[in-house]
Amino acid sequence: MKAVIVGAGIMGLCAGYYLQQTGWEIIILEKGDLEDNCSYGNAGMIVPSHFVPLASPGIIARGFRWMLNSKSPFYIKPSFNPDLLKWGLRFIRSANQKHADAAGPFLCALNLYSRQLYEELSEQPGFNFALERKGIVMYYKTKKKEAEEIHLRETAVRLGLDVSILSRQEAQMQEPAVELDVLGAVHYRSDAHLYPKKLMQQLRQSLQNGGALFMPHCEVTGMQTGKGRIEKILTSRGDFEGDLVVITGGAWLPFLGRMADVHIPLMPGKGYSVTQFLPEKELQIPAILSEAKVAITPMNGYMRYGGTMEIAPVNDRINLNRVKGILDSIPLYFPNLKVPLPAVEDIWYGFRPCSPDGLPYLGRSKKWKNLIFSGGHAMSGLSLGPASGKIVADLANEKTTSLPIAIFDPERFS
Ligand SMILES: Cc1cc2nc3c(=O)[nH]c(=O)nc-3n(C[C@H](O)[C@H](O)[C@H](O)COP(=O)(O)OP(=O)(O)OC[C@H]3O[C@@H](n4cnc5c(N)ncnc54)[C@H](O)[C@@H]3O)c2cc1C
Repeated sequence: MKAVIVGAGIMGLCAGYYLQQTGWEIIILEKGDLEDNCSYGNAGMIVPSHFVPLASPGIIARGFRWMLNSKSPFYIKPSFNPDLLKWGLRFIRSANQKHADAAGPFLCALNLYSRQLYEELSEQPGFNFALERKGIVMYYKTKKKEAEEIHLRETAVRLGLDVSILSRQEAQMQEPAVELDVLGAVHYRSDAHLYPKKLMQQLRQSLQNGGALFMPHCEVTGMQTGKGRIEKILTSRGDFEGDLVVITGGAWLPFLGRMADVHIPLMPGKGYSVTQFLPEKELQIPAILSEAKVAITPMNGYMRYGGTMEIAPVNDRINLNRVKGILDSIPLYFPNLKVPLPAVEDIWYGFRPCSPDGLPYLGRSKKWKNLIFSGGHAMSGLSLGPASGKIVADLANEKTTSLPIAIFDPERFS
């Protein structure tokens, strides 16, 4: 049985990995060169702690305030683009407590399942992607953020996460190399981190060792349907057929959905990262600066600083103000940790695939019986890769999935 997978990001590679483990022949079609996409330069965090979807209470008011600040961590580029307007309306409709309460347990369970699969994967031959189990520390500077983080921690504990509140002194003891200027912190011990580039390279190598065919520079341009299935995938390098088609595609998922006549609303959420190769000062535990929405990850001997969410169509523009915004926020929390602005060519950016309700699109198509979608994982795609890939394989093999996935129905907006 042959599976054709569109997209070689974490979703495509994980789907391929678990399908291959159960005997599927794999072909992966990728429009890029297989060396970079959103799955490479991210902050590498595995995040059961991220159970609040992007569309959450308070984000609209905060979003409007942030739009007035050129260095802010969240920005929606105003435009009359109809896709953006429809996405925005759905986003506003989802940004409430009821939705966050309903989505939280599913997002948390999917992340915990993925973390368990990462543990198993790290023990397989050929895999050594610097998985570390130290958790993630969310630092806050203000009373307002403290109250929010403490409230979130109560929900986290109810969801079964190992999480504790740290005073400034306790947080300082965990990070002897840096000076802290914070009010306190919350330590999510159920989180973990890894080095994404190694993971991606090792997944690809493992797939190739198992006989998978990778087709770089192969852009999918259309799909031929008939008899209730995807019959052919049309690409810049010829046509492909499969018993199963898995569409991933990251920020380009709506275009691929349209080719199969399936409506998938999604906007790219551009983010930047800067990686220091020989950092003068290194954190012990990955950090999130709560007010600034910046992630800092010590990974594989490097330090990576990432942040910003610019909701706008895919574009190659580097907004230096936002990169400065990320780097300027670091010494506000760690006064002796100053990160200079690197040369433009050393600034990485990627497009988070953001659904308007903050939930992934994961499941079988009802329209085409040989089609499965896996995408729209927004800020947590690295974290959710293995769980999503395993679920794709379970669906393909007509096995009951380990978790309920109805809430992630890829055709919920169709
Ligand atoms: C700054 C930043 C920090 C982040 N930090 C974290 C983190 O710490 N933890 C976490 O879990 N997540 C994090 N994320 C999010 C995470 O990186 C993404 O959710 C994830 O990489 C998305 O994976 P994907 O496979 O869906 O998409 P991608 O990695 O973008 O892959 C999609 C692939 O599909 C290909 N494609 C698209 N259209 C076509 C076509 N027509 N034909 C052929 N190929 C096509 C693309 O070229 C691309 O290679 C971060 C993101 C950013 C930007």
